[in-house]
Amino acid sequence: MHGHVVPGAQARYPDRQLQVPLDEGTQLARCLRCDAWVHTPTPPADAPTSELPRPLRGKALDELVVIRAIALERGLHVLFFLAMGVLLVLVEVGLPALQRDAQVILQGLDQTRSGHQFLARWLNDLVNLDGGHVWVLALIAFGYAALEAVEAVFLWRGKRWAEYLTVVATAAFLPLEIYEIAEKASLLKVGALLVNLVILAYLIWAKRLFGVRGGLAALDRELAADVDWEDIHAHAPTVG
Ligand SMILES: [Zn+2]
Repeated sequence: MHGHVVPGAQARYPDRQLQVPLDEGTQLARCLRCDAWVHTPTPPADAPTSELPRPLRGKALDELVVIRAIALERGLHVLFFLAMGVLLVLVEVGLPALQRDAQVILQGLDQTRSGHQFLARWLNDLVNLDGGHVWVLALIAFGYAALEAVEAVFLWRGKRWAEYLTVVATAAFLPLEIYEIAEKASLLKVGALLVNLVILAYLIWAKRLFGVRGGLAALDRELAADVDWEDIHAHAPTVG
């Protein structure tokens, strides 16, 4: 998403296959991320060369894309919990007036009619709602929003500790999610549970958390074996 990584645009690397001169002032320079050739001005001969960059590519890049998808999903949770928290605060602030109105409606309601019984029960719940309870719920909603925001931001940045945090926080909620489904199943709840299970499995298996499949050391070896930087810097890919 950040575009090409083209060291050959800034300086000349004659012993590497990073540049192909075209004419007096222009060249093609190779992107070290995707191997595309980019049309650039030829850098001056005396431009200082620097250590060649090693942008994410191959498996490491694929994994970051998946992790960022998970970060976006966490971002949706943040929006949900923020909306929930704001809604609860609004209810809390307006609660005394709401309860007075509910009382009035309740008194005028003909509770013998079947359709009104449901409404009466709902109004009764509202009248008996404990204000302190609502504050606690609002605080919990904001707490979840903050937790998931931390997960989203640092997953996006590729931090390994955020992967651990996501696994621990997600796993901690599984019992609650399963309890919720046992109470009253809905497609949305089952879907959310499945998404969380897939995310858990992916993080633990692919990112080798908790030492699974050899842990971080094995992951580093796998990624290093996937990309041979010496070869990539020295040779442009040939069309096979
Ligand atoms: Zn590129």
